[in-house]
Amino acid sequence: VSTVLITGGSVLTCTTGSHGAPVALWARRTDLLVVDGRIAELPTAERTADEVIDATGMLVIPGLVQAHVHLCQTLMRGLADDCDVVEWLRTAIWPAEQAHDEHSLRASAELGIAELLTSGTTTALTMETALSTEVVLDAVDRLGIRAIVGPALMDLQEPGTQMVAQSIAQALATVTDLVKHFHGTAGGRVQVALSPRGTYNGTPELWRECVRLADEWDLRLHTHASENAAQAERLERTFGQRDAQALAEWGALGPRLTIAHGIWLDPAERALVRSRGAHICHCPTANLKLGSGIAPVPDYLAAGINVALGTDGAACNNSLDGVAEMRLAALLHKPRYGPQAMPAERVFAMATMGGAAALGLQDVVGRLEPGLAADITCLRLDGLHVSPAPVQPARRDAELDAAALASSLVYSARASDVDTVLVQGEVVVRAGQLVSADQVAISTEAAVQRARLTARLP
Ligand SMILES: [Zn+2]
Repeated sequence: VSTVLITGGSVLTCTTGSHGAPVALWARRTDLLVVDGRIAELPTAERTADEVIDATGMLVIPGLVQAHVHLCQTLMRGLADDCDVVEWLRTAIWPAEQAHDEHSLRASAELGIAELLTSGTTTALTMETALSTEVVLDAVDRLGIRAIVGPALMDLQEPGTQMVAQSIAQALATVTDLVKHFHGTAGGRVQVALSPRGTYNGTPELWRECVRLADEWDLRLHTHASENAAQAERLERTFGQRDAQALAEWGALGPRLTIAHGIWLDPAERALVRSRGAHICHCPTANLKLGSGIAPVPDYLAAGINVALGTDGAACNNSLDGVAEMRLAALLHKPRYGPQAMPAERVFAMATMGGAAALGLQDVVGRLEPGLAADITCLRLDGLHVSPAPVQPARRDAELDAAALASSLVYSARASDVDTVLVQGEVVVRAGQLVSADQVAISTEAAVQRARLTARLP
């Protein structure tokens, strides 16, 4: 039995707040005991452990959960800025994804995982490229993040591009192999998802096969939908249906599905997403940078749709910083909906419980309470940019001002304030540095592989 005791921190967690439910926060100056990877009940008597982490003066929160990233795109950071998603895909990202070899893909995944962990994200739902996804799953296993990883599945070639479409048989053989080797490994920390790339990249037959396999193997479904207005209209012209209606007809629109973006859903589509219990991942930075639009997230939450947060890939963000993403999500909707929209507590709930629900992990991560996995992020609150930190009672087990702590986190904190991160009870970041690998070696190798990747581009 291995035990970790985190002492003296200000512990902040939601107790409710996914699926549009009102947010309830719990905050206390208390210790956290971790036994064999899970949060345990605190003994009232003397508290000891194999390892003691002094979190005095720190904010202790559930690790952030991101419901839409692409680890394979981390190496493409800054490769194509200032264009819309259609041009970005055609001219830069699809050619670059096709130019990946196993070395560049490994470097991309390691860089992405290192950035996610050191900026406080402990869980990610990630869509990879069509080939060699085992390299990414291996990196997830070694570096210690919790992730649900799926190769991008597409049997329709995007018009005007050279992106290779696979046959349904090829796509499903690939994913079947990954499920057999990786799904549920590392104590459940590593999982495989079915990720048809987008509503417009898969035939109804591919979609229906994915739904059948997701039911058979109990897997998550992850796709892009309603990101760009022109793409959504093109689908309507081709299939005679908008994204959410098409997903519903294919049987995909249900609690297993996370839709990245969901910006242009019309009222009928919103009602469908709500009634079928699908999840939306809000990616505000990527949506602004590609000029895609602003998802009406306050309306989605008011309708009872579960909304999670994601940075999307580093090729369109250009960062995987979940702390910065919370700040933008809190600010972005206020000009249209008023300053009361998207308060810090609501955004914190989206970034923790909302993400956990979108990944089907609501009973595993997203909150700090006994029985759940010990996926924990500790942030320093002593930087000038968060000072003066709210005055809080210092005595052990005192109740704290949760709203003030959420405000410090969402509006003032930075990813560089992240000090210690645990995933499944393992310390993966200590004093802001990755523990599971040499982060300097990771960034050096990323530069080498980026140069080789761009040299392979047509
Ligand atoms: Zn994406």
